[in-house]
Amino acid sequence: MEPRILKDTIALPYQWALGPVNTRFFQEFKERRIFGTRCPKCGRVLVPARAFCARCFVPLDEWVQVRDEGTIKTWTYVAYSYVGQPMQPPYVSALIQLDGADTAIPHLVAGFDLSNLEEVRARIRVGTRVRAVWREDTEGTILDIRYFEPV
Ligand SMILES: [Zn+2]
Repeated sequence: MEPRILKDTIALPYQWALGPVNTRFFQEFKERRIFGTRCPKCGRVLVPARAFCARCFVPLDEWVQVRDEGTIKTWTYVAYSYVGQPMQPPYVSALIQLDGADTAIPHLVAGFDLSNLEEVRARIRVGTRVRAVWREDTEGTILDIRYFEPV
């Protein structure tokens, strides 16, 4: 007997209460500003802003604006398709440490031909400087930054 395979799609609509810290963090995106919170104990500036320092277990209430330029800490080239991707491949996903921050945020790196892997490897390295390319019509989400482009 042939094995039967059932195919269907599962949808997962959800709502996420941002809370006061993430609400402010994303509200600043509307003005094309990126903020972190500084730990009074270890001095690190955490971006995205957080309510407490996971190392020191102290609450964070000092907001610090960081630049929308930074440095690639690590990156990967995505050339295959799967469900739930942020965009059609090929694309580059990277961890970017913004100037003034002690942590890195994940985002896309683009702004040039990503179909040529050799060009991508020539332009993107750990340590490459990048800057945010903001959308014209910001809405207060992480995608207000379309991507980061090499400087
Ligand atoms: Zn700390």
